Amino acid sequence: MGGTISINGAREHNLKDVSLEIPKNKITVFTGVSGSGKSSIVFDTIAVEAQRQLYGTFSWFIRNFLPKYERPYADAISGLTTPVIVDQKPVSGNARSTVGTMTDIMPQIRGLFSRESGLPVNLFSFNDPKGMCPECDGIGRAVQPVPELMIDRTKSLNEGAILMPGFKVGSVSWQMYASHEKLDADKKIQDYTPEEEHELLHGSGKVSVGGMFNMTYEGLVTGFVRTKLKRETSEKTREAVKPFITEGICTLCEGARLSQEALAPRIAGRNIAEFARMQVTDLIEVLAGLGTPLADNARIALERVADIGLGYLSLDRPTATLSGGEGQRLKLVKHLGSTLIGVTYIFDEPSTGLHPRDVGRLNNLLRALRDQGNTVLVVEHDPDVIEVADHIVDVGPGAGAHGGQIVFEGSVADLRQADTRTGAGLRRTGTLKTDVRTADGKLPIENADLHNLKNVSVSVPTGVLTAVTGVAGSGKSSLIADVFMRTYPDSVFVDQSAIGASARSTPSTYIGVMDGIRQLFAKANGVAPGLFSFNSAGACEGCQGRGVIITEVAYMDPVTTHCDDCDGRRFKEEVLAHTLRGKSIADVLEMPAEVAVDFFTEKALRPKLRALNDVGLDYLSLGQSLSSLSGGERQRIKLATQLQRTGSVYVLDEPTTGLHMSDVSTLLGLMDRLVDQGNTVVVIEHNLDVIMNADWIIDLGPDGGKNGGEIVFTGTPADLLAFQGSLTGDALRRTVG
Ligand code: ADP
Ligand code: ADP
Ligand code: ZN
Ligand code: ZN
Repeated sequence: MGGTISINGAREHNLKDVSLEIPKNKITVFTGVSGSGKSSIVFDTIAVEAQRQLYGTFSWFIRNFLPKYERPYADAISGLTTPVIVDQKPVSGNARSTVGTMTDIMPQIRGLFSRESGLPVNLFSFNDPKGMCPECDGIGRAVQPVPELMIDRTKSLNEGAILMPGFKVGSVSWQMYASHEKLDADKKIQDYTPEEEHELLHGSGKVSVGGMFNMTYEGLVTGFVRTKLKRETSEKTREAVKPFITEGICTLCEGARLSQEALAPRIAGRNIAEFARMQVTDLIEVLAGLGTPLADNARIALERVADIGLGYLSLDRPTATLSGGEGQRLKLVKHLGSTLIGVTYIFDEPSTGLHPRDVGRLNNLLRALRDQGNTVLVVEHDPDVIEVADHIVDVGPGAGAHGGQIVFEGSVADLRQADTRTGAGLRRTGTLKTDVRTADGKLPIENADLHNLKNVSVSVPTGVLTAVTGVAGSGKSSLIADVFMRTYPDSVFVDQSAIGASARSTPSTYIGVMDGIRQLFAKANGVAPGLFSFNSAGACEGCQGRGVIITEVAYMDPVTTHCDDCDGRRFKEEVLAHTLRGKSIADVLEMPAEVAVDFFTEKALRPKLRALNDVGLDYLSLGQSLSSLSGGERQRIKLATQLQRTGSVYVLDEPTTGLHMSDVSTLLGLMDRLVDQGNTVVVIEHNLDVIMNADWIIDLGPDGGKNGGEIVFTGTPADLLAFQGSLTGDALRRTVG
C-alpha cells in the first residue's frame, strides 16, 4: 500500500510532456478549465493504460476475445492498480434493469421475502421463469391486440372486413376465414352472433374449411398474438403490428412483473412489488421497523442511495429512465458495498445533477471508498467537491493548445492561494444580480401532474433569463423538459444528449462551414470540391477517410486503432498537395476554432466560426470527431448553431456541466446575449453563479420525490436570498454570505 501512480512524458491530445506523481490510497481531484486536458490525463492516459495492463495479465486465449488497447502516448506509466471507471455513460437500457437490480439491493429484498415466507428465493425474481408474470414475461407492460382495429365491422369477409395486411380478399390467409364452415362470408361482421364473432376472433381447434376436414384453425386475434406478439420478432414486424395494438400496464400483475404466487407473501402488510415501488426513504423506515439482520443489510445499502441524494428513487425504476448523473451516483453505491480493495476508482464529475445541499454527502461516500483502501481519482469543477481532495492536480493554464500542462499540484488550501484560474475561481465571492430585467409576457403551465408534480400551475416569464432550481428529484425536468416542452413545442431544447450524427461528423460539418471550405480549396486549385471531402474519392483508402481504423467486436465497444496509411490525416497524398493560403485540407481540419476564425475571413464562414468561439469551444479543432466531445461540449456546440435567432424560447438543461468556474462566466455572457437579442431563456441549474445571475427563479421542492413536486418560490434572486423554507435559498445564503 502507499506509493504513487507515476506518469512520465504524457502527450495524448494536447498534453505537453506531462509528468506527474499521484498518491495512492488518497482522493486526487483534477481541476482546470474545460478543454485543458483533464480527461486526456485521467481517462485517455491513466484509465487506458490501467485497462491495457490488466488485460496483459490474462492468458492469450482470453485476450483473443478482448479489445486490444493501444498504449497511450506517454514515455512511462507505473504503479497502476485495477481500474474501475464510474462515468456518466447511460446505465444499460435493458427493460429488465432497474435501480434495485443494478445496485444489488433487490436480491437482498428477495432474500428477505424468501426467509419470511419459506418459498424459494428465485420465486421473487421477474428475471426468473418461476417468478415472472406469465402474461407479460416479467416486463410489467403488456401489448394488447385491439380487435376493433383489425376488422371493419360494417363489411363482410367477402367485402374485405379484415384490415390487416396479408388478408386481402382472395388471399390464402383470407380463405381460412371466408371458407370456415361456421362463418358466413357474406354477412357483415356487425350482424354476427356473439358466438360467430368469438369464433372469428378468438376461435381455435380443428374445423372444416372449404370442404377440407380437420384443418388447424386460429381466430384472427389468437393467430396474431401467437405469431406476431409472443414470438421473438424482427424490428420490421414490431413496426408492422403497431397499428393493431395498444401498449399498457400488464393487466394480470398490474405492472409488478411478478407471478401471482410471488405477489402473495407479505411483510409488514406489503408484498414484494409494493416494496419495490416505495420511495427509497420510505423503504428505509419500513426495514428499520423489522430490525432483523437481513433487513438491516438492505437498509444500510438503501441509506447509501439516500446519502447520495437519490432517496426519491424507487427500486423498480427502470435504469433506462435515469439521467447520466443519477446513473453515475448509483454505480458509486454499488461499489461502496464491494469488498475489493486496492482499486483505482475514476469518476467523471460526480456532482452532475446534484443540488448543493447533497454535495457534502457525496464527499462522504468518496471518502468511504478511499478508507476501504482504494485510490480515488475525480475530475470535478464544483468547489464543494474540490474540498474533499487530499491532493489536487490543476491542469491548464488554458484550453486546447493553451493547456495541457500541470499548473499546480498540492493541497486545497494551497490551491486557494495559487495563481491559476482555479485558484482565482475559489477565491472569488459570488455577487447577486439586483438589476433584473422585467418580463414582457408569460408562458403559463397549468395543473401539471406528471410524475411527482402536484397539480402545479406556474408561469415562465418571457424576454428574461429564468433559472429553474430545486434538489435532485424535486421535479425540474418533469416540469420543464417534459410538460413545458410539450405545452410549447416550438421551444428549442438544448441538452447534452448525443448529436445524432455519424462517426464522420465534426464541428465543421455540424456548424455548417465544411461546404464553404471545400469550395474555397476547389477554387484555389482548379479542382472539384468533392476531392476535399473525406467521404469521397479524395479519402485515404486505408481507413476510408476516418483517420482511424475501427474494428467491431461482438458484445463490446468497437476498438479504434491508428491508420498508418495517412497517419490520421484522412486524405490521400495528392489531395494534401493542394493548398489554400499555404494550408492543406488536413491542416485546416487540425486548426482549433480560434485559429480558423482568423484564417477564414469570408463572410459565409466567419460568423459561424465566431459562434463556436462564443460558446467557449475555441479550443476544438475543426476536424475532431464529434463523438470525442463530452456532454457539456455537445450542448454548447448545439447552442453555437442557435446564436443567430431572435424571438425564440430556449430551454437549457444544466449547461454548466463540464464547465470550470471561469468558463461559467462565458456561458452567462452567452445567455445574457440570447436574452438581449429578444429571446427567452429557461435554464435548469444547480450552479449558484447561474442562479445568482438569473432575472427570475422558479424553485421546486421542498425536497425530492413524493416530498417534492411543488412550487416553493418564484421571484428574483434577491427575494430568494431573503426567503426561508427553500433549500436553494439556504445554499445561496451560504455562498453570498
Ligand atoms: P478536459 O477534460 O480538461 O475538458 P480534454 O482532455 O477533454 O479536456 O481535452 C483536451 C484537448 O484535447 C482539447 O483541445 C480537446 O479538444 C482535445 N481532445 C479531446 N479528445 C480528443 C480526441 N478524441 N481527438 C482529438 N482531440 C481531442
Ligand atoms: P429533477 O429534474 O428535479 O431532478 P425529476 O423531474 O427528474 O426531478 O423527477 C421528479 C420525480 O419524478 C422523481 O421522484 C423521479 O423519480 C420521478 N421520475 C422522473 N422521471 C421518471 C420516469 N421516467 N419514470 C418514473 N418516475 C420518474
Ligand atoms: Zn404482468
Ligand atoms: Zn487513413
